[in-house]
Amino acid sequence: MSIDFSQDYEAPIVTSTLTPMDSEEVSLRPRFLRDYHGQEKAKQNLAVYIEAAKRRGESLDHVLISGPPGLGKTTLAGVIANEMGKNIRITSGPAIEKAGDLAALLTNLADGDVLFIDEIHRLDRAVEEILYPAMEDYAIDIIVGKGPSANSIRLDLPHFTLIGATTRAGQLSSPLRDRFGVQLRLELYNKEELTQIVMRSASLLQMEIERAGAEEIASRSRGTPRIANRMLRRVRDFAQVEYDGVITREAANHALLRLDVDELGLDNIDRKMLETIIRNYSGGPVGLETLAATIGEEAVTLEDVYEPYLMQIGFLTRTPRGRCVTRLAYDHLHIETAGQQLEF
Ligand code: ADP
Repeated sequence: MSIDFSQDYEAPIVTSTLTPMDSEEVSLRPRFLRDYHGQEKAKQNLAVYIEAAKRRGESLDHVLISGPPGLGKTTLAGVIANEMGKNIRITSGPAIEKAGDLAALLTNLADGDVLFIDEIHRLDRAVEEILYPAMEDYAIDIIVGKGPSANSIRLDLPHFTLIGATTRAGQLSSPLRDRFGVQLRLELYNKEELTQIVMRSASLLQMEIERAGAEEIASRSRGTPRIANRMLRRVRDFAQVEYDGVITREAANHALLRLDVDELGLDNIDRKMLETIIRNYSGGPVGLETLAATIGEEAVTLEDVYEPYLMQIGFLTRTPRGRCVTRLAYDHLHIETAGQQLEF
């Protein structure tokens, strides 16, 4: 998993991608299904598949997990390995440069082990082709020698489970997608689920928190556990320095306003996005690339990190002709439909 350290503490608090601020994340990861809050549908099905595989003494079928960043894809892969009582090896699509790198990873696994490939949609095509027989027949074909004397040798592999994670299931080639027997789509979390996650993290980090404080953080964390955990740590700083150390609703509210996160969890970039569509493009439709160029952000960041939440709360719609802002967003930003700003 790559972390851009050049951004350091400049990274906005509401970004759902991994930043150096999240260094404590590993210790907060739930290890078993019972600690993994939310995603009930995915969890219930998984529990059955895991139990069935265990009873048959087989490895679990390959699993594809899709959904926006920070929703718990890596965490869930670790949970699956723990529930199966097996080891997990973690890598990512862009990190596997050559077919040989993947072959080395695969041949080092033991029966039932989990190989987790994050950002699997970014796998090199030549590498991807090695995966097909590996997933289907637990074997790889290796070419030995060069030119006319080259020979293909079939190497048997242990019965492993591949878990692929992707923020963009649509970009996976269909031969690869079809080889995953289990496909799970993670959804943004609701407020109650996030409140539970915040309470659990606070207890692991030995912070004093009131339920109302956890609810305040939950409702502003864009349906994303990674953001909720990050906000919790920042709120703790304010609670310790400016309050008596307990995370109350008031302390959370105060801290998040200081961090420019509004009551719905929107930050400067969300507001800039919405305001730009409203003011420069009369509320839309505007193409993603044009919008990204206008506000100086990358189109993929807007699409993967910002849009899922803005669409979930009904502020933004995607149409064939581009992005449009809804009436709700105008109201939230206190902007009149004609594009005239009333108050801020
Ligand atoms: P992704 O791989 O989807 O980007 P991660 O698995 O790295 O997301 O999750 C980010 C953090 O959010 C984890 O460290 C974990 O602490 C927390 N988290 C994610 N999902 C859950 C969950 N269902 N319950 C509790 N904590 C979670």
